[in-house]
Amino acid sequence: MTVDALAGAAYIAAALLFILSLAGLSRHESARAGVVYGIVGMTIALGATLALTVADAWGGSGATLGLSLLAVGVLVGAAIGLWRAKVVKMTEMPQLIALLHSFVGLAAVLVGWNGHLSHASIPAELVDIHNAEVFIGIFIGGVTFTGSIVAYLKLSARMSSRPLVLPGKNLLNVGALIAFVVLTVWFVLDQQLWLLVAVTLLSFALGWHLVASIGGGDMPVVVSMLNSYSGWAAAAAGFLLNNDLLIVTGALVGSSGAYLSYIMCKAMNRSFLSVIAGGFGITASASDDVDHGEHRELNAEAAASLLSQAQSVVITPGYGMAVAQAQYPVADLVAKLRERGVDVRFGIHPVAGRLPGHMNVLLAEAKVPYDIVLGMDEINDDLASTSVVLVIGANDTVNPAAAEDPGSPIAGMPVLRVWEAENVIVFKRSMAAGYAGVQNPLFFRENAQMLFGDAKERVEDIIRAL
Ligand code: NDP
Repeated sequence: MTVDALAGAAYIAAALLFILSLAGLSRHESARAGVVYGIVGMTIALGATLALTVADAWGGSGATLGLSLLAVGVLVGAAIGLWRAKVVKMTEMPQLIALLHSFVGLAAVLVGWNGHLSHASIPAELVDIHNAEVFIGIFIGGVTFTGSIVAYLKLSARMSSRPLVLPGKNLLNVGALIAFVVLTVWFVLDQQLWLLVAVTLLSFALGWHLVASIGGGDMPVVVSMLNSYSGWAAAAAGFLLNNDLLIVTGALVGSSGAYLSYIMCKAMNRSFLSVIAGGFGITASASDDVDHGEHRELNAEAAASLLSQAQSVVITPGYGMAVAQAQYPVADLVAKLRERGVDVRFGIHPVAGRLPGHMNVLLAEAKVPYDIVLGMDEINDDLASTSVVLVIGANDTVNPAAAEDPGSPIAGMPVLRVWEAENVIVFKRSMAAGYAGVQNPLFFRENAQMLFGDAKERVEDIIRAL
């Protein structure tokens, strides 16, 4: 059997494993198996690609130099990747993922340029298709590249999370898309190099503008959308490189990312089209200078005493729990309260934290039983009959302004209605706003009290006091 045929069979096996992996990852119970399928699939895919590359190059002119350069590139890249993955803090994962998406985009741009410059022999009847692939690949890759860099800058707070509102921004986006279509047709008819330069610059500018126009609260959708774009960029590169597995994998990532964006848009009551069109229809928000009155504070002992009298407790964690790494003491607190017969459950907002499923991952890591971890829709109607809600490092996801103030930048986003509970204890370090930069009237409600300090330390204090 030839190496080509073997690699073809390996690619089919890898593609099936990737599909099984996605299916496994969609449920808590099967997530571990899903990860294993993914690792096995990727190992097979890498092995087959390596075998194909070596077999193709073997004996050709410059093969030793080419393969050595490839080996050095892979080793250096893998070493940097391993090092970054080891040192990255859990709270920096979202920006790391955004940065990794930007590499996929840049790779697609380079593959596109290479597809044009390498003058590979292409059958005459496929030349037009090849040229269109080059152009489309560069465009999708370019948008993904700069869009992901802006997402990285926003997520790591190196750039303001407020939406950029340029005059006529919708026209700019639509104009860029029309220009892309015109340039593609032009390039297929006449392969001038300046057209490639133009589409590269156009896609860079559009990617930058699309993501810069999105406000803080809508960033989760953007991250999953860029994930989707990176999939389509990989698929485009797969067409150019004539690699079936890259096409299948890219399409899997592209379509699952698009579906995730759609689900998140529904969960956040946002229009899918408006978000993928770069905040189409969003205008700059009014400034937030309302006087909300005084907030009340309590200490860990008082919190422990409230909890010891409670019949039911709901914990709504947010990004601050991830920052503080408070999931372990939170799990201990839950176990202690359950031993005393208190009904404890978690309410997880779909965009709590900085990654889809962020809170679920942290709670699973701390071995919190899955059956007490409920989604927002499952818990919201029970909050009014709950004795104590512990808001641990959450802010935007429990902000009543989203439900009550139509002028708020997060208006219309469904939130956990924690303010309906008898008592609310908010764990945070200051009165600072959340990710969307909006003040939270919850903190000033009659039934809410602030427990200031690092969430991990405060939860440990409560456990001691209990
Ligand atoms: P927020 O980001 O709104 O707020 C987190 C709060 O945690 C802050 O107000 C902060 O207050 C507090 N905090 C930070 N560190 C600590 C600590 N060590 N101890 C205690 N508290 C701490 O959190 P939410 O999870 O409620 O909302 C997520 C936001 O992120 C939403 O706006 C969402 O749209 C956005 N987002 C979500 C993504 C996703 O996929 N899930 C992706 C990108 C953005 P203080 O500084 O006073 O302590």
